[in-house]
Amino acid sequence: MIPKKQIVDLPVYQPGKPIEEVQKEFGLDHIVKLASNENPFGCSPKVKEAIIPVLDRLAIYPDGAAMDLREGIAPFLGVKEDELIFGNGSDELLMLTSRAYLEPGTNAVMATQTFSVYKTVSTVEGAEVIEVPLKDGTHDLQGMLAAINENTRVVWVCNPNNPSGTIVHEQELIHFLKQVPSTALVVLDEAYYEYVTDSNYPQSINLFREYPNLLILRTFSKIYGLAGLRIGYGIASPDLVDKINRVREPFNTSSLAQVGALAAIADQEFVTYCREANAKGLQQMYIGFDELGLTYYKSQGNFVLVETGRDGNEVFQALLRKGYIIRSGVPLGFPTAIRVTVGSEQQNEGFLQALREVLTA
Ligand code: PMP
Repeated sequence: MIPKKQIVDLPVYQPGKPIEEVQKEFGLDHIVKLASNENPFGCSPKVKEAIIPVLDRLAIYPDGAAMDLREGIAPFLGVKEDELIFGNGSDELLMLTSRAYLEPGTNAVMATQTFSVYKTVSTVEGAEVIEVPLKDGTHDLQGMLAAINENTRVVWVCNPNNPSGTIVHEQELIHFLKQVPSTALVVLDEAYYEYVTDSNYPQSINLFREYPNLLILRTFSKIYGLAGLRIGYGIASPDLVDKINRVREPFNTSSLAQVGALAAIADQEFVTYCREANAKGLQQMYIGFDELGLTYYKSQGNFVLVETGRDGNEVFQALLRKGYIIRSGVPLGFPTAIRVTVGSEQQNEGFLQALREVLTA
């Protein structure tokens, strides 16, 4: 057998370590996972209520067009129904976008360090990947602009950026969009959109009609707490949506996910609660890090990248032994840092205590 040559050495995505695995390995009862930017408060109780009746209809295929969800979300966002596309998580939309726009001979421009899936999905399609280093932990949009050439088909922009938590401001983004050639699609990954509190954050929904090469991606996996259901969405011009739709599998989002997402959107009180709790949790983390004399990027997401001055893998292992699963910065391109998801107040306190013990041992 002869696989595509570009996938043979492709790194396999390293997810956060599962709780059960750590329980077994270390014989610990109480494990706190702050590794995958999941919502520590779960999801809205309305989601469970909405999903239960659907359990009686599992023999039936989902609606491939996700009409009920589409009709529910479009007015909520102030967009038209044909300006939306749904995916099995926003990860799938990253893959479908690459499938539709990238091929050998083309390239994709992205930051480094940023969300690793962009590189994977671009490489799978045989595209060259051009990486532009972050500047002070933030996307260097001018540098990215300079890297774009006539073969560039996709530009990945992660806002807020995972793993640094930084954002590009609205004015910078507009300045950038004005100069990107119309032959290149700009994918604005807003997976952490609902957590942002900075007023300079772009109101991207007001931009995609002016820039037909702009695709906005959002997800129900983060603030909505539905990572296990796998559903995300894209917002773009009907023409762009139509192109991605052509490479989509017929039933890519499940009936449970569609119903769950619709119920989740209807509970904005839950979203507000989570955004405010996360902002408080970030402050709690910053105070803890300041006390330890650690530096970090101020984050607009539900995670923080903090410099420990030690090998990230060692700090990760030491925290594991204390029952805290976080992310080592090593695979994220920050070898002496760790990335931690903001948890509940109690989880944050426990994590900071464990980190103190690890770093002062
Ligand atoms: N984009 C970014 C920046 C992310 O951090 C994640 C989750 N790790 C995703 C996309 C994918 O999220 P999902 O597929 O669960 O929607």
